Amino acid sequence: MGEEERRRILYVEDDPSSAMLVRRVLAAEGFDVIVATDGMAALELAQRIEPVLILMDMNISGMDGYEVTTRLRSFEHLHGVPIVAVTAAALRGDRERALIAGCSGYIPKPIDIDRFPGQVRAFIGGLQEEIGSPEEKSEYLVEYSRRLVERLEDKVRELQEAHQDLQRIEKMKSDFVILAGHELRTPLTVIYGYTQLLLSNPAIPGDDNDVGSPRHLISQVAAATKRLNQVVEDILNVSLIDADRLELKLVPVSLELLVQSVVNNITSMDPDRRLHFEVEGFGDLPQVRIDSQRFYQALWNVISNAVKYTPDGGVIRVTGQVVEYTVHLTVQDTGIGIAPEERERIFDRFYVLEDTALHCSSKTAFKGGGLGLGLTVARGIIHAHGGKIWVDSEGRDEEQLPGSIFHILLPLSEPASE
Ligand code: ADP
Repeated sequence: MGEEERRRILYVEDDPSSAMLVRRVLAAEGFDVIVATDGMAALELAQRIEPVLILMDMNISGMDGYEVTTRLRSFEHLHGVPIVAVTAAALRGDRERALIAGCSGYIPKPIDIDRFPGQVRAFIGGLQEEIGSPEEKSEYLVEYSRRLVERLEDKVRELQEAHQDLQRIEKMKSDFVILAGHELRTPLTVIYGYTQLLLSNPAIPGDDNDVGSPRHLISQVAAATKRLNQVVEDILNVSLIDADRLELKLVPVSLELLVQSVVNNITSMDPDRRLHFEVEGFGDLPQVRIDSQRFYQALWNVISNAVKYTPDGGVIRVTGQVVEYTVHLTVQDTGIGIAPEERERIFDRFYVLEDTALHCSSKTAFKGGGLGLGLTVARGIIHAHGGKIWVDSEGRDEEQLPGSIFHILLPLSEPASE
């Protein structure tokens, strides 16, 4: 051990002026004083700096000096390192309590600058103060244990109250988001409905491809409204899933029609992406009892991701088959793939791998990252149906394009209704 290390003193003190005074006085005596401003920092520093002495202000906030001392006394490597209480003498018995907690002695505050270096050296030299009689000692010991248990009780109560507060705030937050989601849904449906009404009117001039024509402009409004609606649905669904309030309206549904409608809607949103879709095996599937709107959203999120993370000219293959009372759906792409360590995390809410600077509100642009809710919502909806979702990929490689394959299992709990 070097000379430097042998002369380190740890001072646990939350009052900066006391810390500065002690540091100055002891620096002049050749000691290096390292200050910890709270109990947790003291425990951490004591492990690292190998002090020759620890000075402890007993009245620090949080874990107090008594508790920190008792904890430090259980550290093997501090065995033999004196801990000295430095505190304004307040109550009778403070000295004894400090000794019971594990201190070697007590230096009253305010410190006497002339005597202080001598007192410190005496403790480093092995000075150990004692409590009067054994009876007195055991009395203080009982009192100290009782005090520790009381403090523990207070802390547990505080934690419980904080936990209840957090739950209340969490509920307020999710109530608000659910309410806001519902409020946004209604006008969006109205706007979308009116755009469809306008588009069905032959008197509206131009056509979808005639950029700038009234018909083209209305189609753009319709597409943007649809996109906004998907975002609102994701936010609403994630809040319902979090609050365990996702209620399913189960009806018999043809997965073939559902998948086809997702694919048609996605391709119509960005026809320039030149992606090739293959949809296979759905003709042979029985109808399934699912929440059609929600399952649509789950499929939409997975398939639109396949689109987003596959460069132009790629292939998206969606298959369905029945395997032992379960429908097995796969969504496979020829895109950038997913690294092994990300395969679980991408289902966490707000988890986005892409640089948020590249964030793009388009649901179909290449690597146009979204809010990081898509897969969380898909998983929540699929779980609510008693199903499973996971991903396989050989890894992420933007040159080799290993692709990803998302698997969805959906139980066929009842005999399929035709
Ligand atoms: P976002 O709304 O950002 O797309 P998601 O929850 O849908 O969020 O997806 C989370 C992350 O998972 C994405 O940011 C992306 O990095 C990754 N990811 C999802 N699907 C694919 C895929 N088919 N290929 C490659 N990466 C994907």
